Amino acid sequence: MKKTLIVLLSLFAIAFPLMAGGSGETTEAASSSGSTAAELTGSQIVAEPTTFTIFLTMNNMPFDSDWLVWQEAGRRTNVYLEGIIPQSNSNEEEAYNLMLSSGELADIIGYKDTAVLEQLGRDGGLIPLNDLIDQYAPHIKAYMEENPAFAGYCYSLDGNIYMIPKSQELVSAEYWWIREDWLDKLGLEVPTTVDELYDVLTAFRNEDPNGNGIKDEIPLFDRAGDKMPDEYLYLWDSSTEFYPRDGQMTFEPLEDNFVYAVKNLAKWYKEGLIDPEIFTRGAKGRDLLLSSNLGGCTHDWVSAGNYNDSLAEEIPGFKMLAIAPPADQNGNVTERVARTPSVGWGISSQCEDPVTVIKFFDYMFTEEGAELMNFGVEGETFVYDENGNVQYTDKVMNSELGPLEYLRTCGIQYRIGMLQYAEYEYAFMTEAGKQANELYEAHHEWYPENLPPYLDGALILKYPPELEAEYQKIMSSIRPYVDEKFQSWMLGTSDIDEDYDEFVQELYDRGIERAIEINQIAYEIWLGEN
Ligand code: CA
Repeated sequence: MKKTLIVLLSLFAIAFPLMAGGSGETTEAASSSGSTAAELTGSQIVAEPTTFTIFLTMNNMPFDSDWLVWQEAGRRTNVYLEGIIPQSNSNEEEAYNLMLSSGELADIIGYKDTAVLEQLGRDGGLIPLNDLIDQYAPHIKAYMEENPAFAGYCYSLDGNIYMIPKSQELVSAEYWWIREDWLDKLGLEVPTTVDELYDVLTAFRNEDPNGNGIKDEIPLFDRAGDKMPDEYLYLWDSSTEFYPRDGQMTFEPLEDNFVYAVKNLAKWYKEGLIDPEIFTRGAKGRDLLLSSNLGGCTHDWVSAGNYNDSLAEEIPGFKMLAIAPPADQNGNVTERVARTPSVGWGISSQCEDPVTVIKFFDYMFTEEGAELMNFGVEGETFVYDENGNVQYTDKVMNSELGPLEYLRTCGIQYRIGMLQYAEYEYAFMTEAGKQANELYEAHHEWYPENLPPYLDGALILKYPPELEAEYQKIMSSIRPYVDEKFQSWMLGTSDIDEDYDEFVQELYDRGIERAIEINQIAYEIWLGEN
């Protein structure tokens, strides 16, 4: 019932601007009249070269219509884009506000912040794309149907789609990494369960794997420890956050697992298995602990594998190895952290021909368009080898800018609605990184079903506007309290067994039931759209 209402409302919302503007219908009438449609060849979207303006920048690189792949896209589709942000601009926010205050919107708009784009949509600056996708974008539509996480990211909570996001083919994000050379040195096997990991970390602590005669090893460490010190509660299937199970949102500190997990983590900390400075070490911690040959195990991105190359001379035999997530106390192997789609582009309400633009958006999801935006122009930036794999040309690989930067100057992998291929990423990965990717991508069953995007240790859900303030208010009281208690238990300054009943009561007093309820609503909306 609720969903039908949302769909109906969004139908009205979309019908109105199209009828009012009329431009979409005109284009469709023209192209179906036969006079122009018959002349379209190859990947052409319109019969005559047509230019649209675009507001888009990424990493201080404003859109440049001269970029190789965008010129090529124009030649193939007859749709050309003209950036409106000056090349000298290095302040996206300023440029965005300038555009809004001028009252003149570009035909196509992308921005770094999804929430800001969706707000622009609700304010009438971007048009809802739902019906346009349905009628003119079969490739986007098919991709949404096959990829729930992507579809969920597309929808704003008013039921409209205001932007087509950028998606990634790879699912895996963070991996469990362990010093394989330390395992070998101590004659240990790769740990496959949380108990085996405990034994290995204990050996790292006690048996001097770095061979300097000093008990200085830091077995388990994390450069993200200051922002999410509860990450290692995952080992026992818990956290200090919300987490859905069987369709029901839970707040994990209230679940049975929590006390067990915290007690184990506190024990590990007390026994010196965890970095004593985990709460404060900060982003440089990984560099420091690996280059000084002290760190043994961590949960981190593909870049953790880069040290095998960068430290090869300094620390002979140094080898970080990606391993499967250790099974928890119930034997389940789970990886909570996965990639999330990110912001892309939408069509402004001042665009006079949204139908052509949505067809151009759709082109990016065709095999041809995706190849162009991932790899560039065949023969120019890449070739297919005898096995059908993409190889970047010497021009790219030997560029003074470095391959990635060179590809960026071709306009490849810009912040648009597209699918980033795994192969694009593999082309720049070290051997260790590829091994990590291949291991985790071969086990999608490790990733929980129906789990919304999970970033920096928390679910990314969109809250209905009328509930968001209430939710934030409750959590602004609960979060610091939970963090403070968790830290005191882990550091051993207080005992969770003694505190727990009072802790639970305090959570109820601060409104945790209502916060769970609101999260359940947000979660069901997410599920309904996926
Ligand atoms: Ca040592």
